[in-house]
Amino acid sequence: MSDHHTPRKRFGQNFLHDPYFVRSCIDAIAPRPDDNMVEIGPGLGALTEPLLQTLKHLHVVEIDRDLIARLKRLHTPERMTIHEGDALKFDFGSLGQKLRVVGNLPYNISTPLLFHLAQYAAQIRDMHFMLQKEVVQRMTAEPSSGHYGRLSVMLQYRFFVDHLFDVPGGAFNPPPKVTSAFVRLAPLAPLPWPARNEAVFANIVSSAFSTRRKTLRNALKPYLNDADFAALGIDPMLRAENLAIEQFVRIANRVAEADAHP
Ligand code: SAM
Repeated sequence: MSDHHTPRKRFGQNFLHDPYFVRSCIDAIAPRPDDNMVEIGPGLGALTEPLLQTLKHLHVVEIDRDLIARLKRLHTPERMTIHEGDALKFDFGSLGQKLRVVGNLPYNISTPLLFHLAQYAAQIRDMHFMLQKEVVQRMTAEPSSGHYGRLSVMLQYRFFVDHLFDVPGGAFNPPPKVTSAFVRLAPLAPLPWPARNEAVFANIVSSAFSTRRKTLRNALKPYLNDADFAALGIDPMLRAENLAIEQFVRIANRVAEADAHP
């Protein structure tokens, strides 16, 4: 059977082909033979093959049926477990503890995928991803900087996020229009600012950033009044983009407390 594969735009297929950047990614991941690793979107195997030179076994999650058929031809089930389907719906919790997650992610679903994976932080050892550089800038942004938003807060709440290096469009086939970047996420244990109720924390962060131009007083009106802001020592005229993660957690903890003792 022919091994030719035409890249599919709808699956965000930009295949990494530059050997220098493949090596840089593998060196950053630093696989060990017994690692419990899953690759999202192995595609034509740019990262998969060098990973399997060290790993005894690799889980992969792939949505493209042609690529799945190709992977099945090339790898035995002893070396590779193929999970066919959408990574956004995949239960990463089923893969056990100390999970290492890697992938040159399909850029069209990268943000929801990061939120999906964050749920499994307790089981994750680390994650290494190729993403659009602009997304990595949002993931690592500090308060009051242009890129700071919901993604920065929700990921930095749980993970140490490290922008490792940039990768030019020409390293991929077809080349994406934007520059990419390789990033590492390592769960923070223990969490530096644990939220009393993480669902409330997620709601507060979401509401605060839902209307970027609004002050906290307006954006969080359903949850807090001026007396609450005074007790928290947070200026209600600030905007979400000015708040540190620890301040979001203090707000969420006050709301959770009020919910628990109305
Ligand atoms: N890892 C390969 C590489 O570095 O060349 C391919 C990377 S390509 C950017 C993204 C890969 O993710 C493709 O193989 C694509 O078919 C797969 N993919 C796209 N959407 C997916 C989804 N929702 N779930 C799982 N895999 C997906």
